[in-house]
Amino acid sequence: MMTETPPPKNSTPRKRCPICGRLADAAYQPFCSLRCADVDLARWLGEVYRVPATEDEPDDDET
Ligand SMILES: [Zn+2]
Repeated sequence: MMTETPPPKNSTPRKRCPICGRLADAAYQPFCSLRCADVDLARWLGEVYRVPATEDEPDDDET
């Protein structure tokens, strides 16, 4: 019986940056750069801390 383990094709398959689609950088995985990592973080925070854009209603109507 031949039990050969298949040789690894590419040692480390590089992922692609989910922001811009470029190959991810090892230093900023899974992003390609610090900038893209920041963009993703900003998006994520934007979802969590959704600040209402219209909060300028005059509340001095009560007398
Ligand atoms: Zn990117």
